[in-house]
Amino acid sequence: MTYAGKKAAVIGLAVNNTPLVRFLVERGAEVTVLDRKTRDELQEYLDRLTGLPVTYHLGPDYLEHLRGHEVIFLSPGVPKNLPALQEAAASGAVFSSELQVFFAENRERNGSPVLGVTGSSGKTTTTTMLGMMLEKEKPVKVGGNIGRPPLSFLPELTPETWVILELSSFQLQDLGYSPQIAVLLNITPNHLDVHSSFAEYVQAKEEIIKSQSGNDIAIFNWDNPVTRRLAATAKGKVYFFSRCAQPETGAFVKNGDIILRLDGKNEEYICPAVERRLPGEHNLENILAAALAARLAGVSPKAIAGVIREFKGVEHRLEFLRELDGVAYYNDSKATTPEETIAGLRALSVPVVLIAGGYDKKLPFTELAKEAAGRCRVVILIGATAGKIRRALEAVEGKNRLLQEIHQAATLEEAVTIARSKAGAGEAVLLSPACASYDMFRNFEERGRRFKELVFSMQP
Ligand code: ADP
Repeated sequence: MTYAGKKAAVIGLAVNNTPLVRFLVERGAEVTVLDRKTRDELQEYLDRLTGLPVTYHLGPDYLEHLRGHEVIFLSPGVPKNLPALQEAAASGAVFSSELQVFFAENRERNGSPVLGVTGSSGKTTTTTMLGMMLEKEKPVKVGGNIGRPPLSFLPELTPETWVILELSSFQLQDLGYSPQIAVLLNITPNHLDVHSSFAEYVQAKEEIIKSQSGNDIAIFNWDNPVTRRLAATAKGKVYFFSRCAQPETGAFVKNGDIILRLDGKNEEYICPAVERRLPGEHNLENILAAALAARLAGVSPKAIAGVIREFKGVEHRLEFLRELDGVAYYNDSKATTPEETIAGLRALSVPVVLIAGGYDKKLPFTELAKEAAGRCRVVILIGATAGKIRRALEAVEGKNRLLQEIHQAATLEEAVTIARSKAGAGEAVLLSPACASYDMFRNFEERGRRFKELVFSMQP
């Protein structure tokens, strides 16, 4: 697309869109930034654009200034059914996004191969691991939902550079491009407060394979029913990873070893599964997916095994903090769905004192309650969903019940104090909220950091 002289509106500034604004200005567009947040809230990003000829409309009435723009760039998650956007569409405006621009420009200028990772859970962990694997043998750039907008490194790309992108459902929705290697980790309900239905959420994830060609590669989780079903719609070559089965082409565990079979016949040994540092069966899935994708991108088995042996995980994902009075403390603040908390609980083999609850994304807690009742001796609830989770826990019946006490706390500080007083030697205290953090914190990082401060300030 040519941008010179075009009236372009960028809705939502934040991390993703500052390089986009710069790019559009450099291409000669007339750029307006619209954001619901105020100047004070956005200062950090505004500072990055100092001196550029950009018009700003910030604050609650931001969308009142949308009229007259020809191209509108949306931040991930901005719903297109807002009346101002519908009006703009009706008057002929075209919608785009930072990622769409990246894919189009990269294809035109650099032709760098792109490896994209999506899924409801495990994206950041898998993307980080893949970055480390490729880095051992190839030029690589990692970006997307992981916090680095790919437009920021576009000028540095060459046809030899691999681009690894973490892609969220919001970024994928209506993207119109797919990576050459697509990884679909799993699909479970998420973000149902924003996506209008589970079907719409699945459809957004499908974008990662929708525009692939016959030469491209799609990697699916055999053990997840939704992704297994989606494999049938892939146009490119299909591979599966599985921790239960041994798919014909893909990655699996055989006699305790991680094995790849790329041609349907020959098996390639990577390393024993027990040599991994990442805990939990869910992380075995992430490792299998990363190993398979890295190998298909041309990384040697030796380099892949090296990363599996060294990678300890990303902060706030089932992160071991310390042991005090025989109690192990874990920060899993990034567990923002019931499935992620279930994965965390299953990864710990001792009775758990769980701190959970937070902002309500309208996800069901029944399965989490069943799992927690069997694995937690004490549950301490915080935040907006405390009442809902308590009711789900109280409704669990059955004889495998370990759960003895449910508490509610007004703050994370209070929850940690209760947790310390209740946890006994040989048990684990786990912050794994199953919910987003926005009711009490700016984001999951702030929640996790606060938890870590509290845990590390405890005296023996
Ligand atoms: P994402 O980027 O998709 O949010 P992360 O790697 O940041 O995924 O992990 C988020 C949370 O989900 C953490 O609590 C982590 O322990 C958990 N998790 C990671 N991988 C999986 C998986 N494959 N299945 C279920 N939960 C997972």
